[in-house]
Amino acid sequence: MNLREDVLGCNECDLRTAGGCTAPVAWSGPDKADVMFFGEKPAPNEDKHGVPWSGYAGKELDNYIWQQRWSRDMVRVDNVVRCHPPDNRDATASEIKACTKWTMLSIAQCNPKVIVPMGGPAVQVFMGNVNVDDVHGIPVKWGNHWVFPMYNPAYGMRQTREMHAIQRDFLHLKMFMEGNWWPPTDNYPDPVYKLARDKDLDEIAYQIKWHKGTSTDTENTPDGKIWCASFCYTPGEAWVVWPQQIPYLAETALNDPNVTITMHQAVHDLDFFEQVGVRIDPSRLLDTMIMAYLLGEPQGLKEGCRRHCGMQMKNYTDMVNPYQAEMSYEFFRQGRDWTYPSLQMVSME
Ligand code: SF4
Repeated sequence: MNLREDVLGCNECDLRTAGGCTAPVAWSGPDKADVMFFGEKPAPNEDKHGVPWSGYAGKELDNYIWQQRWSRDMVRVDNVVRCHPPDNRDATASEIKACTKWTMLSIAQCNPKVIVPMGGPAVQVFMGNVNVDDVHGIPVKWGNHWVFPMYNPAYGMRQTREMHAIQRDFLHLKMFMEGNWWPPTDNYPDPVYKLARDKDLDEIAYQIKWHKGTSTDTENTPDGKIWCASFCYTPGEAWVVWPQQIPYLAETALNDPNVTITMHQAVHDLDFFEQVGVRIDPSRLLDTMIMAYLLGEPQGLKEGCRRHCGMQMKNYTDMVNPYQAEMSYEFFRQGRDWTYPSLQMVSME
């Protein structure tokens, strides 16, 4: 079987005859390579010449490859869809699905250590419905290979601010392949939350001052009333403090001019502190949302924790769903034994 000829002769989906495709575009590069890049689809020029990633975006990809002292003939470059769609439109999910057969055969032939999907459509073939902003640059195990998701280099040409992120991901890709870089792993898989009693407050204040800082996050009830705040000065554990305890903590630690306070989202957290009568000095305040923005990172706490600390934080639904399922099961189990109440005469007087 000649895979290249099979790809070039494919007409298994409508894209082949939809009007935009001269012929399917097979991969470029060697049959065997340690790293294999996947984009979404051939661009118009690539359709014309039958070579993937040979237009403007391809030149940009070349730049990133050259910066790592690699060359195009060392790597294999392919797309998850091999026929150019009419009017250069995006490939549909069903077209990508139809072409996934060639994607898998291409990987099987190349047997790379690392697969690098570039841009949302290619990344989603390997990682499901994820956002590239959240997952780029973090390798994940995929069968016998690693998948190292990245932005499409063409994205950096439109959003020049993202060029740094793409450059950094390419650098990490090379270091990862050489065994010199590893994404962060969660060193504290089961963080401990301790409920603060009044007698704990002096110890908490002492530790905050000794560490010259604390991070804090605040919680409100669903109807908007303040509920509690958590304070963390060392990785892996946090104190849960009630609103009525916070003025004492402010007096003994939070108002100390040497203490820096890192808030998850100051726009909400400051409001919480004001409601308990505590004003946080803005000169000692850091906000993770602003930091994430300045770093060009996703602004969610979960995404940030995963990207920078290797933590897989559960969301509310993950936590509650198993209990809901159990309670529903119990409800139906009990319902099996219920009997209809007997009819009763009710007086209308
Ligand atoms: S897009 Fe892929 S599956 Fe569809 S005809 Fe072209 S090569 Fe075949």
